[in-house]
Amino acid sequence: MFQRIDHLGIATRNLEESLKLYVGIFGLKLQEIELIESQGVRVAIIPVGESRIELLEPTGPDSPLARSIEARGEGLHHVAYAVEDVAACLEQARRGGLKLIDEQPRPGAGGSLIAFIHPRSTGDVLTELCQHRGPVHG
Ligand code: ZN
Repeated sequence: MFQRIDHLGIATRNLEESLKLYVGIFGLKLQEIELIESQGVRVAIIPVGESRIELLEPTGPDSPLARSIEARGEGLHHVAYAVEDVAACLEQARRGGLKLIDEQPRPGAGGSLIAFIHPRSTGDVLTELCQHRGPVHG
């Protein structure tokens, strides 16, 4: 059901500070910074080979990400897998008895469709399914 690791989401209080590390020292290239108002995050997309890093900064204290940083600190936030059909994968996860955060796919960065599986069902790893726009089957 998974095609590859699509990206790793890394929570940070300050995007510009994190970019000093990833771009300034690690020498990676910043593709773009995107504001995703509906999720309360500002996302810096940094390609690494065929995967990417997404640095995630909360837009304000009410952002769910701000509460997550408050509770667990900065650092690795989620693992995202590229899938061909996020709705079909959600259904498979549901049939497998996993607890879902998203019952339906919703818009993610870069025009993708995403859905999260609850870390309680996945060994405490927040898991994202990520479908990039493109040929849709069925
Ligand atoms: Zn993500």
